[in-house]
Amino acid sequence: MKEKSRRYFIKTYGCAMNVSDAAKLAAVLRSAGYSEADSEQQADMILVVTCVVRQHAEDRAAGYITSLKGLKEKNPNIIIGVCGCIVTEPGRDVKKQFPHVDLFIPPNSPEKLKDLLQPSPPISPSPRGRGGLVTIAHGCDNYCSYCVVPYVRGREFSRPLDEVLAEIKGLIEQGVTDITLLGQNVNSYKPGLANLLMKIKQLVIRNSSFVIRFLTSHPRDMSDEIIEAVAELPFVAKEFLLPLQSGDNEILKRMNRGYTLEHFLGRVEKIRALMPQARITSDILVGFPGETEQQFQNTLKAVKQIKFDEVHMFAYSSRPMTAAAKLSDQLPDEVKQERLQRLISVVRGIVKDNPLTKNITSL
Ligand code: SAH
Ligand code: SF4
Repeated sequence: MKEKSRRYFIKTYGCAMNVSDAAKLAAVLRSAGYSEADSEQQADMILVVTCVVRQHAEDRAAGYITSLKGLKEKNPNIIIGVCGCIVTEPGRDVKKQFPHVDLFIPPNSPEKLKDLLQPSPPISPSPRGRGGLVTIAHGCDNYCSYCVVPYVRGREFSRPLDEVLAEIKGLIEQGVTDITLLGQNVNSYKPGLANLLMKIKQLVIRNSSFVIRFLTSHPRDMSDEIIEAVAELPFVAKEFLLPLQSGDNEILKRMNRGYTLEHFLGRVEKIRALMPQARITSDILVGFPGETEQQFQNTLKAVKQIKFDEVHMFAYSSRPMTAAAKLSDQLPDEVKQERLQRLISVVRGIVKDNPLTKNITSL
């Protein structure tokens, strides 16, 4: 009886993969008899799914975890779990920093929570209630010089095609009609993203309202084959998250992105030639170490030229272990923030120019 009345509360920061992790953790808890609480105060277990991609995200998550100390003091029976990338962040001793936390669960490890729960029930981590998120590849091998993801999420690993197809089939059978395939770079999925999309076709042939999406696409690996598959398959949303990061070739090189602006423009052109209605969104990072005013201007120029449907904009944040953190020419915060503000107003200007174009800012 007591088991049934237990409640969980999950706070999630960061990317779609974290949303997917949170859904899997919730599924583990539900199979252990927990139900969802409306607030931290009503919960017997609180899980925090953390993000460390930028200092700001990390500070918010760490601040929230620290704020739970009072609850733990009032009610020592409450279980507090910290999940996600803060757990694996290089150089951080989470046990020391958060002594009031009971569990630490690395990214993409719902089975660790299952092992910790007593008694251990069978689990089926379906993303019920959160829409269909299917991770097709874990980790990242790209080592963009600013990015901590390869250090906290590990090496890139493509899940076998059969396993992914079986998961998608299961979701379709449960009535899920909108599935997003996730990976830090879905374009480098080993059995081939185009191949996977073609195989999914056989599963959805009789389901006309079904939509499949995918993110994120590395511009370097955006092949003609993938673009053509998206154009050809009616159930694939004509949507691309294609992060440009910078419109300057020297900065792109120093970011270790592996493409030039010209290559990127060519990909956008190909997409729009086959799918004039395609929705192309992007991420832009300003204030990379040593970025000059002229190099920043090149980014503004590219943004004006491309007219993305939505842009997520970030000021560079130095991250532990990364190659860029070791560069000596880090820019002052004021410069980074000022460039971010100018980029934001250029993106807003595009909205004014073209009322059909929607741009969203995220700091
Ligand atoms: N794998 C995806 C997502 C990476 S993280 C990709 O390659 O696009 C999401 C976004 O956060 C990145 O696209 C980048 O714009 C931003 N980002 C990553 N590291 C950052 C850092 N150190 N400072 C500021 N923004 C960063
Ligand atoms: Fe980070 Fe680059 Fe990997 Fe994206 S592709 S997760 S930006 S290292």
